[in-house]
Amino acid sequence: MHPADTAHPVLPNRPGVTGGNDAPSLLELRGVTRSYRTGGWFAPRQVREVLRGVDLTVREGGCTGVVGPSGAGKSTLCRIALGLERPDGGEVRFMGRAWGRDTRHGLGKDRRHVQVVFQNSVNAVNPRLTVERIIGEPLENFTTLDRRQRRARAGELLEQVRLSPALLDRLPHRLSGGQLQRVCIARALAPRPRLILLDEALSSLDMLVQARILDLLTELRRATGTAYLFVTHDVRLIPLFCDEAAVLTEGRVAPVDMHAQGHACARQAPHQAAFDALRAAILPAMPAMPADAPL
Ligand code: ADP
Repeated sequence: MHPADTAHPVLPNRPGVTGGNDAPSLLELRGVTRSYRTGGWFAPRQVREVLRGVDLTVREGGCTGVVGPSGAGKSTLCRIALGLERPDGGEVRFMGRAWGRDTRHGLGKDRRHVQVVFQNSVNAVNPRLTVERIIGEPLENFTTLDRRQRRARAGELLEQVRLSPALLDRLPHRLSGGQLQRVCIARALAPRPRLILLDEALSSLDMLVQARILDLLTELRRATGTAYLFVTHDVRLIPLFCDEAAVLTEGRVAPVDMHAQGHACARQAPHQAAFDALRAAILPAMPAMPADAPL
């Protein structure tokens, strides 16, 4: 057993758990609404409804996708799912418990079980910290490992995301975009969370790097049983990566029928037209990738 497990017992990893429609819910949003007041001094006051009765489920070990254009409410949904913001109405349940009721403590002891990987990995790390300290931060916050143990664990996490432990002493500016995003994934995995929120996590990377990281994330999900909430504007990634998904448009969700075309992404009628329009609006034609592309 790894020292991290003995020093700070946490939920065991769940190898082999890959979600599925019968897996129990991990994160559940029911009828979630959120409005913002805008205007003020010179502009007329308005209430803007950003989320209008959102239902969403992420299952244990599963991957739920949320796809939608800019302004649809994705970031608002992420902040609510992370417990950073409270909904005006509806309910958010994580691991069977309603959360967000205790605003002073936020997620409290559930905090470690939800981690996030953002789109812009450069902004997501402190440029003055080495890779060891970046990955070591959640280990320091959430485990009782000492400094030497944290370094060893950070090295293992780097190997888990297919990077060399030789990078431990590097600063972020000496890493490529793909390497830095892997470091952010290693940091998210460090406290052995139940759920990782991937907030446009691949959007700033070129297609080949995206494909490699998608593969890595799928492999890590199988190996650790960590569930993902995968938020993207890129509908192409949904069938490649998710086992269930919803389209978010103007604050409302509609489910994607993942089985309608094998595992192809197709939205259930009568939403098909809206989904096709969304796809046409946000997607350039997908460039063909040679079968022997070096992924
Ligand atoms: P997305 O991430 O899909 O682009 P957002 O959740 O960022 O969508 O925003 C949805 C809408 O809510 C936008 O029109 C945005 O201006 C508005 N909005 C988001 N957060 C706030 C806020 N704190 N105050 C006022 N309006 C907000």
